[in-house]
Amino acid sequence: MREILIVGGGYAGFYTAWGLEKTLRKGEARVTVVDPRPYMTYQPFLPEVTAGSVEARHAAVSLRRHLRRTRIVAGTVTGIRNADRTVTVRSALGDAYELRYDILVVTAGAVTRTFPVPGLAEQAIGLKHVEEAVAVRDRLLTAFDRAASLPAGDPRRAGLLTVTFVGGGFSGVEGFGELLSLATALLRHYPELRADELSFHLVEARERILPEVTDGPGAWVVRELERRGARVHLNSRLVSAVDGHVVLSGGEEYDSELIVWTAGNASNPVVHNHTDLPVDARGLLVVRPDLRVGTDAAPVPDVWAAGDDAAVPDLASPVPGARTVPNAQHAVRQGKRLAKNLVADLRGRRVRPYRHSSLGAVATLGLGRGIFEFRGIVVKGFPAWLMHRGYHVLAVPTWERKIRVLAVWLTAALFGRDLVSLASVQHPREAFLAGAAAGERRATPVVDRAA
Ligand SMILES: Cc1cc2nc3c(=O)[nH]c(=O)nc-3n(C[C@H](O)[C@H](O)[C@H](O)COP(=O)(O)OP(=O)(O)OC[C@H]3O[C@@H](n4cnc5c(N)ncnc54)[C@H](O)[C@@H]3O)c2cc1C
Repeated sequence: MREILIVGGGYAGFYTAWGLEKTLRKGEARVTVVDPRPYMTYQPFLPEVTAGSVEARHAAVSLRRHLRRTRIVAGTVTGIRNADRTVTVRSALGDAYELRYDILVVTAGAVTRTFPVPGLAEQAIGLKHVEEAVAVRDRLLTAFDRAASLPAGDPRRAGLLTVTFVGGGFSGVEGFGELLSLATALLRHYPELRADELSFHLVEARERILPEVTDGPGAWVVRELERRGARVHLNSRLVSAVDGHVVLSGGEEYDSELIVWTAGNASNPVVHNHTDLPVDARGLLVVRPDLRVGTDAAPVPDVWAAGDDAAVPDLASPVPGARTVPNAQHAVRQGKRLAKNLVADLRGRRVRPYRHSSLGAVATLGLGRGIFEFRGIVVKGFPAWLMHRGYHVLAVPTWERKIRVLAVWLTAALFGRDLVSLASVQHPREAFLAGAAAGERRATPVVDRAA
């Protein structure tokens, strides 16, 4: 039986494994997915997780539950030596061991790209993982509680009620719009705070946001966010965030309790630095149109790749040499095509090139607000937001997930969203330790205390 090893169980890896489960005959091959996380993250839901419109657990699609015929290994691949057909895995406990394969699929995605901005590593948080989305939400809710406990006019209130997103791409704009929507809704429950105390900043280095849509709709999104009280800083960079004090390249400075970094992706380190597979200048795996690693002149036998870690030729683009953009639309379809091609190759049949014409772009800008664009057709506001929700509830894998997400949306429509910060889960033993310390004090004899 041939061993198929998939590095990374995110979008592309999950759909590859799912496709293989559906296509492989019994005994034809054994499929293993290696990922440090036991779930595939449905990243397009993360902005709604920050706003409390999607339950955090529902953005995590369990690998064990949905890939029943696949072996799931909890670990991080730290090196790929294709010459020996071996990967090195580091387990959650820190042990290192090797796994051998006959066929390799590399779908490890990308990582958050950062720059050496002073204070950034200490103060900022990303928005690529479920735990980050939950923390962003909890920090905003905690900041509201803290600001409300300070007297009006206390200068600390301004910093607590200030949010900065750095990066005006899809994830940044969606996260920003959703969090702005949550913060505005929260004000109703905090009579101690005034609307003009809220300060939301979106910082973008280029002259426009949302590169996935054309200039007109992009400019409309800026106007829409500013109409809702936000500041959009175009042609602006974060130059310092030391102790939460934001300094922008234009000279503006302010304190910001929450700094969310959404300024793009970098190549996955295991692909960029720890493999003997062919990698391009950006650190992406060189892939042929059929998703096999290598070039037409030098294909690498039995190695495939897809998703954000691969430079996949975009056959639907009129631009020669274009590569598919790193998004879920491609990762899902590449995963499905990869599974079909892998099985075809295994059975000595013809493989097909990957080709997908974009279905357009749809983004949420907060509850009831969105933007959609497809080939010159632009839809704004509530209808676009409905399209966003409709698309994603259909796109999230498995009926079980769809129904769970839909149920939360329906209950939120009836009762509103949950408004409680659970930041205290970061310190679950605090109450227990306080109780234990009080118990010790009670148990200490009075005479000892006097002594
Ligand atoms: C907030 C946000 C919103 C988004 N919204 C949209 C949207 O609306 N529409 C859209 O099309 N796209 C959207 N995207 C982009 C989309 O989610 C990604 O392009 C897509 O997830 C890429 O799929 P992938 O399989 O390549 O990588 P991922 O889905 O990131 O999966 C990579 C997997 O590999 C694992 N991994 C990483 N390194 C290793 C290693 N060394 N060993 C083992 N496993 C490893 C990771 O844990 C992860 O599970 C959004 C992204 C974000 C962050």
